[in-house]
Amino acid sequence: MLAPMNSLLLTGGRVVDPANHFDSPADVLIIDGKIFAVGKNLSVPKGIEQFDAKGKIVCPGLIDLHVHLREPGQTAKENLATGTAAAARGGFTSVVCMPNTLPAIDTAGTVALIRERAAREGIVNVFVTGAITKNIAGEELAPIGGLKRAGVVAITDDGHCVQNHELMRHACQYAKMFDLPVMDHCQDYSLVTDGVMHEGYWSTVLGLRGWPAAGEEVIVARSILLAELTGAKIHCQHLSAAGSVALLRDAKKRGVPISGEACPHHFVLTDAAVAGSEKFWNADGKGLAKFQGSELPEWPKYDTNCKMNPPLRSAKDREAILEGLADGTIEILCSDHAPHCDYEKEVEFDYAPFGITGLETELALALMQLVHAKRLSLADLIAKFTVNPAGLLNLSKGTLSAGADADVTVIDPDCEWVFRVADSASKSKNSPFFGWKLKGKAVATIVAGKTVWSEKSELVAA
Ligand SMILES: [Zn+2]
Repeated sequence: MLAPMNSLLLTGGRVVDPANHFDSPADVLIIDGKIFAVGKNLSVPKGIEQFDAKGKIVCPGLIDLHVHLREPGQTAKENLATGTAAAARGGFTSVVCMPNTLPAIDTAGTVALIRERAAREGIVNVFVTGAITKNIAGEELAPIGGLKRAGVVAITDDGHCVQNHELMRHACQYAKMFDLPVMDHCQDYSLVTDGVMHEGYWSTVLGLRGWPAAGEEVIVARSILLAELTGAKIHCQHLSAAGSVALLRDAKKRGVPISGEACPHHFVLTDAAVAGSEKFWNADGKGLAKFQGSELPEWPKYDTNCKMNPPLRSAKDREAILEGLADGTIEILCSDHAPHCDYEKEVEFDYAPFGITGLETELALALMQLVHAKRLSLADLIAKFTVNPAGLLNLSKGTLSAGADADVTVIDPDCEWVFRVADSASKSKNSPFFGWKLKGKAVATIVAGKTVWSEKSELVAA
């Protein structure tokens, strides 16, 4: 008899499945692309492939709900094949792509195009978000009902922010009607103007135009008010400022349907990184520099790989984001993976586009700053990458329950490695973390029972 397809037995790992409050040594049996059972001494069909997960963490496949895959229209930066390859390497079995493409994802036809192409060329699950406004111009609502029918999991104008409060209110009302969360890139244009880095000491020293924290906080406050007014679920993207965390914490106490996410660059780096490595490392009191050893990674002043939107903020803001993650105020981790070509980033700081890649480093950086730094339990960290984003977006993912899709990530939390340009699967190399010593790594990524990436297979291929 032939062994069943897309079937696998993962043996001897520590299974961490926050959706089921399960954290214990166990085997995981996958049959025909679905989770069949989790436990000990499982009865296993003959001939099934085995994966020795001893000493490793076995958890639901990680979900990154904030990724720019650049299709359609910007495939020099990334495409569905390379973006999902980077996701698989980072341990992600599902990604949610943002609609600020060319054209923007603001019609059912474009949603269908991405979904069809992702099914053909992607190696992990791709979920699509639709724009809030036509062409992400902030002037006229996109056809939100049509986008929902076409399969979007949320609406967002990410990269931009709807400035007109009345228009945003209507967007929230429609979103509520169609049971779609609204993901908001919080940026007030009149306060931020053409700021390129955090407004503070370092922007003054470097002579760069400032992007004040209040430019984010004022829109986080608006999101809270609109969530209260309309009952829509609003999710604040890539939070960077201490004030935003405080607003969110207070609103959640009152039961407002609001949530937030944080990206590793905002809780690892500070604005001092824009001024070059030495000052940044000196400002780090939490052992990141010590872990790097005698040779600290270096980068020049005005490195455009330290330019993102929202910007790297002060050490105080970084601490507030870490606290927000630790106390549950911020329930989701993601990368804001934003690939850009070399020639676009290799210009003066003022002219470079915002954003860095992140899919391949986010798990390690989150483990280092939260779990290894003893701020968060491993189960809570995994929840922020699995059951929490799945819950926000109503995805039937992020769990190892029997019958669920067999999306599984195997993690070695203590593996020490260096992030090298040659090892990155992304089409773009705009990351400030190349040359960094990291701790923790996905060693296998399994989608619907099929191993789409593993360190082992890579060794064989090499
Ligand atoms: Zn954004």
